[in-house]
This record gives sequence, structure tokens and C-alpha cells, in this order.
Amino acid sequence: MKIHLRSALFLLLVGSLAACSAAQPRTSGIKPGEARQELVEGNQRFLEGGMRSHAWHDESIMQTGTFGQSPSIGVLSCADSRVPTEIIFDQGVGDLFVVRNAGNFRNDSATGTFEYGVEALGVHSILVLGHTKCGAVKATLAGEPLPGHMSVITAAIQPALAKMDRTAASDDESPEPIAADEANVRWQMKQLIEGSELLQKALADGRLTMLGGIYDVETGGVRFLD
Ligand SMILES: [Zn+2]
Repeated sequence: MKIHLRSALFLLLVGSLAACSAAQPRTSGIKPGEARQELVEGNQRFLEGGMRSHAWHDESIMQTGTFGQSPSIGVLSCADSRVPTEIIFDQGVGDLFVVRNAGNFRNDSATGTFEYGVEALGVHSILVLGHTKCGAVKATLAGEPLPGHMSVITAAIQPALAKMDRTAASDDESPEPIAADEANVRWQMKQLIEGSELLQKALADGRLTMLGGIYDVETGGVRFLD
């Protein structure tokens, strides 16, 4: 009964969303299997000053507004103002399906958002994007209690760093913080999949690819993790 109710709610959600979208949603045009290369090339255009997404900006607004969206790539990124997701990948309106919070950590709303993206919108790749000099990761490394709701952030990142050597953790020049940023990305990728039967199935069916990367706030470059 519980399963039937869940299925019914899901179908209702997808049905309503489909009804909101007309028959010809604008697709980003990024094919499965080409997400990483597209992001690499977009980041290269960003670095070289050859960004082009603005060239079809007005058209994309009109098409997505009228016919609906069909983004290809979901991104779980940090809220850090130095990491404007669409800009650093030279992507435009309707291309990326983005969740941002301080520390790019998985939570239920992020999981639900990506499930929606994969099941209802056609998202075929999800990138978890960390970055250098991440304040949320640094705060977690410092281990000091934070006031208000900020403790939610460090609690979500702490397991990722639990096995790391924390010596010199506060020193920006040491390798530990970048290693911590990477450890957090890998951990959140794992949590995202392990916490979602829908995403697990999409992976198993070959409908979803997971990517991880680190954005360097000093150079503007993105390094993808193996
Ligand atoms: Zn950050």
C-alpha cells in the first residue's frame, strides 16, 4: 500500500510537470556521455574570454518559458559567490539544473531535486562541484561549534573528513584543505547515490552518469576527479 501510494504521488507529480510543459521543451542539446566534455569546453571558453551562451540568451528565455525546460546536467555546487555555476561553464538558460548550498552537501531537498531532474526533466548527468578555499569545508576542519543552523553544514561535511590528517588544516598553502575539498566532493557523490533508490536505478539503467570536480577560485579552472 505504501509503495502504491508513493507510485501514485510520483506519477501525479510527473504528470503535472509534463502537463505544464508543452510537447517541445527546449533541450540543452548536450548528449548523454558528452556532459564532461561539454563542461570542460565551456570552462575553457570561460577561461579564454570566448563565452557564447549570452548570444542566444533571449531565444532561450522565450523557448523555455513557452515550451518548458529539459536540462541535461544537474550540478550540486557551493553557494560561494566565487563559483557562479552557469558562468564558469559557459552555459545558458535551460542548460543546467543547479542546487547550491554552503559546502555543496547532500541533503533531502537536494536529493529530491535531482530525482525530479532525472525522472521528469531528462537530466542524464550530475556533477558534484567543490572548490578551493571553501569556507564550509574549512569551518568543518576547524571543528568549532557554529551558531544557529550553520551546524547543519558542518555535520554534513564532517563524515567526509573524518579520516583525514588534520595537521596544518587551517593553512591555505598546505595540501590538506584541497584534499578536504576533494574528500567532501567524493563523499557527497556517494551520499547522493546511496540515499536515493531512484538515482541508483538510473545509474544501473545507464540513464545517469555521476561526475565530480573542483573549481579553483584563483584560476577559474575546473579539475574533474577520476
Ligand atoms: Zn564553498
